[in-house]
Amino acid sequence: MSNPYIPDIAVIRKIITENAVNDIKTFEVVFEDPELAESFKFNPGQFGMVSYFGAGECPIGIASSPTDQGFLQFTIKKVGVVNSPP
Ligand SMILES: Cc1cc2nc3c(=O)[nH]c(=O)nc-3n(C[C@H](O)[C@H](O)[C@H](O)COP(=O)(O)OP(=O)(O)OC[C@H]3O[C@@H](n4cnc5c(N)ncnc54)[C@H](O)[C@@H]3O)c2cc1C
Repeated sequence: MSNPYIPDIAVIRKIITENAVNDIKTFEVVFEDPELAESFKFNPGQFGMVSYFGAGECPIGIASSPTDQGFLQFTIKKVGVVNSPP
């Protein structure tokens, strides 16, 4: 079993603006490791500890469906210290 404390690197491949005031965005990410991208499984309601280098880390619910394969989506509101980096 892999060590859950070692982060898995993912790349943002799409950003969707969800509202007119531009403060809620959905980030579609793909694991760099293609094997992990295909094999990663989760249940509805699970969240990830999401980091952005230089900004910090916080829990974010997985917004995409567990039936979607090869990518994850996180919908994030720009509020607070971590979610609104300078
Ligand atoms: C299990 C879990 C799942 C989460 N999933 C999501 C998610 O899917 N999307 C998401 O955007 N955030 C989500 N959050 C919140 C996220 O993890 C951050 O805590 C938060 O968005 C900002 O953190 P911060 O340290 O920057 O905020 P702080 O600087 O600590 O926040 C300052 C203040 O801003 C307000 N605030 C913070 N976050 C929000 C928010 N999201 N909406 C409204 N007011 C807020 C609160 O009044 C807070 O006291 C989740 C949190 C948990 C515990």
